Amino acid sequence: MKPAKAENKVWREILTRVAGELGPKEAETWFRPAVCYGTDGQVLYLEVPNNSFRDYITTHYLGLLTEKARELLGPEVIVNVEAAGGQEGLFAGKNAPAPEIAAGSTPRPSKLNPIYTFDTFVVGRSNSFCHAACRAVVANPGTRYNPLFIYGGVGLGKTHLMHAVGHASLERGNGNGGLRISYISCDQFMNEMIAAVKNNKTDAFRRKFRNVDFLLVDDVQFLAGMEGTQVEFFHTFNALYETGAQIVLSSDRPPKDIPKLEERLRTRFEWGLVADIQPPDYETRRAIIARKAETQGVRLPDDVADVIANRITTNIRAIEGVLTRLVAAASHNHADISREFTLEVLGEIAPEDKRISLSMDQLQEITAKYFNLSRRDLISKSRRANIAHARQIAMYLCRAKTGASLSDIGLAFGNRDHTTVLYSLTKVESELAAGDDESATRIIKELENNIERIKN
Ligand code: ADP
Ligand code: MG
Repeated sequence: MKPAKAENKVWREILTRVAGELGPKEAETWFRPAVCYGTDGQVLYLEVPNNSFRDYITTHYLGLLTEKARELLGPEVIVNVEAAGGQEGLFAGKNAPAPEIAAGSTPRPSKLNPIYTFDTFVVGRSNSFCHAACRAVVANPGTRYNPLFIYGGVGLGKTHLMHAVGHASLERGNGNGGLRISYISCDQFMNEMIAAVKNNKTDAFRRKFRNVDFLLVDDVQFLAGMEGTQVEFFHTFNALYETGAQIVLSSDRPPKDIPKLEERLRTRFEWGLVADIQPPDYETRRAIIARKAETQGVRLPDDVADVIANRITTNIRAIEGVLTRLVAAASHNHADISREFTLEVLGEIAPEDKRISLSMDQLQEITAKYFNLSRRDLISKSRRANIAHARQIAMYLCRAKTGASLSDIGLAFGNRDHTTVLYSLTKVESELAAGDDESATRIIKELENNIERIKN
């Protein structure tokens, strides 16, 4: 995936400015592995190798990045940092900073985030199945739902639920001599394994992971293509399963969609219960916003909660991000968190009534018609060049005209991955930016005219 040239220049300039503040070494460590996929004028898209990177960067550097991006791209720009999915991320993941290796040979559950409990988890239609499965596993570990495999998109609460299982099991275990619980992300597992092999400590590594009552492994999609790790993981799985230990796995996709996963692992992943988490519906989003505001001690007017719930639809982490930004901006500007203020912070500058309110369906229709295709062609899996190109243009229009999230667009186009959408947007944007592809510019222009005509 090649980012558009023009945006690369902007990204390089942002990096220079960031390095000016952080010093070259720190900037190099954290931002060299990041890839910029461009900007649509409202959001600057960055992709980093894995979740640890994303979490570290969003906690420590998002403010600085946003500040620098805004200097160059305008005061409303938001920086969106996503972890790479699939293999690309995996191989890059090797560059990730070494994980903390717990002292001693028994894994300590100290890495459980104290905030991620069942109490702080808002249950709604989209996650109730998964939530119930997690509760069941705490109540009856190592029995029916073993392993429990939970999957769902980024920022939907998988990690939160896994930690909640850890906390709740620890509490339950206190009465019966204590349970041994190990929570680890898949790339940490891989890193520890590599370190163990290097240092001739594989026995200790094995003891560590095979002597637990609960093994919680986050983001197992990162096993894709990692043959050595898969073999080790397979043996760990078997050893634990035989002792009746409970295994909980999370992934951004179901076992059958993890590429380059050994068949024997795939079948094991499906032995117990596979439960999915869906993006939250409107009510759940509202409930989550209310809950998060409450924990931050902020009073949010209803119309503000409404704006956020309407604008951020697919990612709970993003909802939290918006709230945090909103609170920070309000205190910085000594402003009340009003609806106008929220729209401003969200970069929603166009007045409501002027916003084009065509649905993605309609935009697909219009684009398909323009290319003499059917809407069905557009969302099909066909890779024929003319269809693929029309599809990319349609995705671009959906993004530009509805501001829908990448995952939303992916869903509307035959359930494609958000990285595919990103790729399409980047491609169209770079065609437009290059300026030498008259056709992209002309096509978009004509389509926009068609859209205007339908609107009026
Ligand atoms: P994932 O692992 O699926 O990418 P996380 O578990 O890291 O997502 O969740 C992202 C953020 O959203 C976390 O801060 C988490 O606490 C919060 N979150 C997700 N789902 C819920 C929920 N149902 N109720 C409250 N907070 C949630
Ligand atoms: Mg997670």
